[in-house]
Amino acid sequence: MAKIHILDENLINKIAAGEVIERPASVIKELIDNSIDAGATEITIFIENAGKKKIGIIDNGCGLDEEDIFLCIERHATSKIKEAQDLYKITTHGFRGEALASIAAVSKMTIRSKPENANEGIELIIKSGIVKNKNIVGMQTGTEIIVEDLFFNTPVRKKFLKTEATETAHFLNVITNHSLAYPHINFKFYNENKLIFESPKVTSRLEALLNLYGYSIKDDLIVVNKKIEDVNIEAYFGNPKLSRKSRDRQKIFVNNRFIRNTMINAAVYNSYKTLLGVNEHPMYIVFIDLPAEQIDVNIHPTKIEVRFVDNIKIKNILENVFTDALQTSEKINPNIKLKTYSVAELKKEQLSNIALELEQSSVKKIQNYSLELEQKSDEAQQKTENIELAITEKSAENLELNYRIIGQINNLYIIVECDDGIKIIDQHAAHERILYNKFMKIIKSKEKIEAQMLLLPLTIELTQSEKILINQWLDVFEKMGMILEDFGGNTLILRSVPLFIGSRADDKRLLLDLIDDILALGKIHTIDEKLHNIVALMSCKSAIKSGSRLLVSEMQEIVEHILQDKDIKTCPHGRPTFINLSFAELEKTFKRT
Ligand code: ADP
Ligand code: MG
Repeated sequence: MAKIHILDENLINKIAAGEVIERPASVIKELIDNSIDAGATEITIFIENAGKKKIGIIDNGCGLDEEDIFLCIERHATSKIKEAQDLYKITTHGFRGEALASIAAVSKMTIRSKPENANEGIELIIKSGIVKNKNIVGMQTGTEIIVEDLFFNTPVRKKFLKTEATETAHFLNVITNHSLAYPHINFKFYNENKLIFESPKVTSRLEALLNLYGYSIKDDLIVVNKKIEDVNIEAYFGNPKLSRKSRDRQKIFVNNRFIRNTMINAAVYNSYKTLLGVNEHPMYIVFIDLPAEQIDVNIHPTKIEVRFVDNIKIKNILENVFTDALQTSEKINPNIKLKTYSVAELKKEQLSNIALELEQSSVKKIQNYSLELEQKSDEAQQKTENIELAITEKSAENLELNYRIIGQINNLYIIVECDDGIKIIDQHAAHERILYNKFMKIIKSKEKIEAQMLLLPLTIELTQSEKILINQWLDVFEKMGMILEDFGGNTLILRSVPLFIGSRADDKRLLLDLIDDILALGKIHTIDEKLHNIVALMSCKSAIKSGSRLLVSEMQEIVEHILQDKDIKTCPHGRPTFINLSFAELEKTFKRT
C-alpha cells in the first residue's frame, strides 16, 4: 500500500467534509472500509453494549509500518489520493483521511498493526486523539483497532444515542451491506462475544445475498446480468410475493459502495409498474459497476450518495434493463397455455375438465381464486335475495335499538335508518374498531389470550438485524397468543395465533406486516404502546375488507355496535367509522323548514 501523507490545503478545500462519526455504527462503517481498502479477506468485528463500550475490528490486510501508524490518526492523513485529479478516479472507499482522526478524537483507541515485511507489530494507545503509549507486540500481518468508551469526552453526543437494539441492528446493516458487496471476504460479527453473523467466502453476490436473506427466496428472485456500454448491471428483484410494507430490503451499490439514489429507486418502481399493490415495496438489490471516472463520490459527507457524470445515460440504461427484466419475467407473469383438443378427445373428456393447462402453481392459485370468486358471487346473489326478508324480520326483533338497515352500497358503506336520521357506516373502519375494542377487552381481562396452535407452523425468514429488533417484542407477541420461536439462522417459526383473530386474516401476511410495522416503529418502548400497535394491526387484518359484500347478520353486528358502544367513533388509526345525516339536516337541505 502507498504511504500515508497529509493532504495539502488546496485539496482539502475540494473535499466534501462533514460529520463522519455520528453514532457507533458509523465507526464500524469507516473501519470496515479501511480494512477493505487494505486488501483484507478476513474481517472480524466485535462490539459490547451496542458499541458504546467497545467496538473492535481485526483484519488481515496490508498493515501499517511504524511511520504510518503514527500518521494515520492525523487529520487529512491518507494514502489514497495525492492530487486533485485523483478525486475523479477513486477506487477506494476512503480518500479524505478523516475517519481515524475523528474516531480517535472522541474515544479511547488502540491500534495494533504489522505489515508483511515486519517481524513484530506496533501498538499505540490513544486517548482523545493523543498517543499515550507505544508498545511492540507479536501479531499476524494486518491491523487491529479497538475503540472504547465512544463519546466519553462529548457527553452531549453520548446522550442522544439510540437504544441498544436499534444500534446493534445498525451495526448489522453496515456489516451485511459490506458482505453483499464483497462476497469473497469472510466477515464475522460478534455481539457480546457471541457470533451473530458470518458471511462465508463465496464467489458470487447471489450466494452472499442468499446467505443474508435465506436460501428459500432463491426461486422468487428475478436475476439480471447485463453489460451495456461500460455499465455493468447485476440486479436481483423479488417477485411481488417478497414485497413488504417497509423498504428495508432495497439496496443499491455503485462500484461496491452502498448508496441511496432516488433516480435508481424510481427506475425500479417504474419497472414494476402495476405489479405492486398500494404500500407494497419490492425487494431489490442492485449492483452497478462502471469506470471510476464516471462517478463523483465526493459529494456527500458520509459518502452515502454519489453523482453520475452522465445521469441521463445511466437512467435510460437502467430503465430499459429493469423494465425488460420485470415485464418479461415468467416468475411474475406466468404463461398461460391453452391446450387445443380434437373432437375425438372432446368426446372422451368431460367438458368441465378441459380448461387452462397451467404451467405454474401461482397461476393455479389464480384459477382457484377466480373459481372461488364465482362461487362467492353466487353466494352473494343468494344473500341479496334473502336480504329484504331478513331485514323485515330483524327490524321487528330489534325494537329496543330501533334501526332499519337500508342496505349496503358500493360494497363499502352500510346505510341505516335510526330515530333521528340516517347513518352511513364505513364497514371496514367500523369493524376494525369493533375488533380493536374487543381484542383490547380480552387482553385487559384475561391474563393470557387463548392461542390456537397452527397445524403447520409457519416459517418466516428475516435478516439478523430484523431478528434482533423483533426479539424485543417476543414477549408482547406471546401475550397476544402468537408464539414465535427463534429457529436459528435467519428463521423464525410461528406456532400459534390468537384464537380471537378468526379466519379472515392470512397468518403469514399478518405476521410479516406486524414485523414491518414494528421495524418502522423503532422508538416505541412502553408495553401499552406496543400492545396498541399490535392490536390495531391485527384488527385491521382480521376486519371485513372494503369491497366485500356483507351478510345481513354481518351488517347487523356492525350497526348494533355503532349504536351501542360509546368508544367507537373512529377506527384505531383515527379515521371516522360513520357519519350522521339527521332528518333536521335533510329538511334544511331540502328547504322544508
Ligand atoms: P482514508 O480512508 O480516507 O484514507 P482514514 O482516516 O480512514 O482515511 O485512514 C487513514 C489512513 O490509514 C488510510 O489512508 C490508510 O492508509 C491507513 N489505514 C487505516 N486503516 C487501515 C487498515 N485497517 N489497514 C491498513 N491501513 C489502514
Ligand atoms: Mg477510511
